[in-house]
Amino acid sequence: MSNGARVAAPNAGRFHRADALARLAEEQFDVLVIGGGITGAGVALDAASRGLRTALVEKDDFASGTSSKSSKLIHGGLRYLQQREYRLVYENLAERQRLLDNAPHLVSPLPFLIPLFGRGGMVNRSVARVYRTALWLYDLTGGMRIGRRHEKVTREQALAHMPTLDADRLVAGFLYWDASADDARLTLAVVRTAVLDHGAVAANHTPAVALTTDSRGKVLGARVAPDGMAPFEIRASVVVNAAGVWSDEVRSLDEGHNPHSIRPAKGIHITVPRQVFPCDIAAVVPVREDHRSIFVVSWGDQVYLGTTDTEWDGPLDDPSCLPEDIDYILAAANAVTTRPISRTDITGMWTGLRPLLAPVEGRHALSERTSDLSRRHTVRTSDRGMVTVTGGKLTTYRKMAQDTVDAVCKVLGRRTIPCVTKGLRLRGAGEGPHAPARAGGIDPDGPMHMAGGAASLARHLAGRYGTETPDVLALAHGHPELLDPLVPGLQYLRAEALYAVREEMACTVADVLDRRTRASLRDARGAAGVAAGVAALIGPELGWDGDRMDAEATAYGNSLRAQLARAGLDPQPAAGGPAPEGADGAAGSAARASEPG
Ligand SMILES: Cc1cc2nc3c(=O)[nH]c(=O)nc-3n(C[C@H](O)[C@H](O)[C@H](O)COP(=O)(O)OP(=O)(O)OC[C@H]3O[C@@H](n4cnc5c(N)ncnc54)[C@H](O)[C@@H]3O)c2cc1C
Repeated sequence: MSNGARVAAPNAGRFHRADALARLAEEQFDVLVIGGGITGAGVALDAASRGLRTALVEKDDFASGTSSKSSKLIHGGLRYLQQREYRLVYENLAERQRLLDNAPHLVSPLPFLIPLFGRGGMVNRSVARVYRTALWLYDLTGGMRIGRRHEKVTREQALAHMPTLDADRLVAGFLYWDASADDARLTLAVVRTAVLDHGAVAANHTPAVALTTDSRGKVLGARVAPDGMAPFEIRASVVVNAAGVWSDEVRSLDEGHNPHSIRPAKGIHITVPRQVFPCDIAAVVPVREDHRSIFVVSWGDQVYLGTTDTEWDGPLDDPSCLPEDIDYILAAANAVTTRPISRTDITGMWTGLRPLLAPVEGRHALSERTSDLSRRHTVRTSDRGMVTVTGGKLTTYRKMAQDTVDAVCKVLGRRTIPCVTKGLRLRGAGEGPHAPARAGGIDPDGPMHMAGGAASLARHLAGRYGTETPDVLALAHGHPELLDPLVPGLQYLRAEALYAVREEMACTVADVLDRRTRASLRDARGAAGVAAGVAALIGPELGWDGDRMDAEATAYGNSLRAQLARAGLDPQPAAGGPAPEGADGAAGSAARASEPG
């Protein structure tokens, strides 16, 4: 197969969980991937596109781990230059360019402002020199391939992008270019490409609970316990452990003990309305006391800020955002803006765990701080033939997958089949350069037109579905109510929730509101408020009765409110805000009102 060709594999099927589970139970696979974050998704796509019979299981939802909780940057990592990780930055920037080419609908260039502060109109010369040198290095290491070089900007130009920066101290700034992507949708696009275009079989809500072996102890598959179904075994010649921060748990199924090879590092983000911290690009804000920086990123009608970087030894399934994490971000932001952000401004937040590699004895990290641990990845094959991939970044998933599948080929005892993912376009990317992001595949006479046809809504859909946008809108033909917002004040449509269940394997309210859409990250209280309505919309598709709808909605709403409360934020909507739909928990009646027919 030539690079970039999108040829449907002979057994490429639907992206449907029940179909996938039936095939997982029946067929023999070359590779079984455990973990449906970006790493596992990438491995599945790489293996399937090399022609290997490939299966993937995910214990919760695709991207429900770290891969929906990143800073959403596809970047080289300017700060890694400080750590002299030149090769890492070079590789990251090469991958950034491939993603911009292969998923132009999902990955967009993003300008970053580095504001320079000083006294009496003077900036500290050595600080400016350090930035200038780093930015030249960044450009020369591959940054320039985005088509722009860094530039110095005046105080006024910086203020035009971020009007509330402290104008008394702001002297000038630098502008450089990176890229960003919706991490959960990127992960989903990679899994769907593996399944729909290359014949992989993937199921979410299907944990691997044990490994199966032959009489000599070689790993030959896994036992899985899918939600709503009896456990069964999947047969595969090689098992790949791509379980992120849980990979030591999966390794312990193989090795009999936890190797403690991962040092999880917690990072949180908060979201505020754009008018609270007006900006039209992203910025790097220094945290002086800590020799770190946080990002401020424009995100449609919202702005998100993050991240922290602290060691985490609590439960992996439930990393909490604590009041002190929020304080850290607020202090950093409020040190540079004239419109202080308070807790009551925060509408959403998320907390993730970086699967960092613990330093190996003899090879020292720069310090004990997790922020100084390397973002490189490793691939290792155990004595019993399980391949584990750990570390890395969202940005570098493709290279991680390539290295992993090369190791898989060795275990299979086959000549390495060449990797084809460097030029392989993801679902929704279309064929021409940048085609879907620009055109959006939107029919001007279609239901979008009826909905008012706002250009921003077209951009919203094109940036999420690319060439598949018409399939989402087709659901609203004859059902104009599906063009209503899913959450008041956010752009997501009710049709997107239905599409998520029918075509994107969403199985729960959280799958829809946290990952297929990012409603809860933008407006957690709003998302909690519509849980009943969403359960009523998707419940009939999933075979739920009224009790189940109520239970799913209540559990989801309670979980979001508990997260807000743990972070020291008010779980209730501000007085005067939109009345939460279905606040009385009446999913059944909402169902009757909202059924698409
Ligand atoms: C705060 C923060 C900010 C970040 N920002 C960036 C950024 O801007 N850019 C960037 O490039 N990178 C960033 N990263 C790093 C990046 O997000 C991670 O490297 C990447 O998402 C890890 O993906 P993964 O697939 O390895 O892990 P995960 O996404 O955690 O996936 C592992 C999956 O395995 C599943 N699993 C576990 N056990 C089992 C089992 N027994 N059976 C089946 N499934 C199982 C889990 O449910 C999970 O979904 C950031 C990370 C954090 C925490």
